[in-house]
Amino acid sequence: MITNVPGICLVTSYADCVPLYFVDPVKKAIGLSHSGWRGTVGKIGKNTVQLMQENFGSKPEDLLAAVGPSVCMDCYEVSEDVIEQFKEAFEKKYWEDLFYKKENGKYQLNLWKANELIFLESGILPEHMAITNVCTHCNSKILYSHRTMGNNRGNLCAFLALK
Ligand SMILES: [Zn+2]
Repeated sequence: MITNVPGICLVTSYADCVPLYFVDPVKKAIGLSHSGWRGTVGKIGKNTVQLMQENFGSKPEDLLAAVGPSVCMDCYEVSEDVIEQFKEAFEKKYWEDLFYKKENGKYQLNLWKANELIFLESGILPEHMAITNVCTHCNSKILYSHRTMGNNRGNLCAFLALK
């Protein structure tokens, strides 16, 4: 979701998936996207930046971007079919930063790193990024985590609005 209308609050909900926030302080526009593994492999963050460019004339080098609290690499086990899609979406030189295979045949996947790479690919400057180190699953006493609580859970929300 994107807007340049002050007072409209964008809201997305999460419980382990990754919130992405975008602010353009020059053109006064914002964007918010929900980047679970499907959104991440489809590079929804890059799509959001492109939409801000097309609709508001945003320049990637002006944007401030953040990855919000979500599941960390150590807590995020996925199967090989998910990894196959990440191998198609990301160059091989990044694979060792993005995932590793375990003895049980499953993988651990780093959605924070993947979204950081997507920010860079979109033209956002490293000094304009904030990447969380807060995991929802590691902190499930205070944050909602689907991996901890299953369907018996609430939602965390990301909020973003222009004054
Ligand atoms: Zn964790």
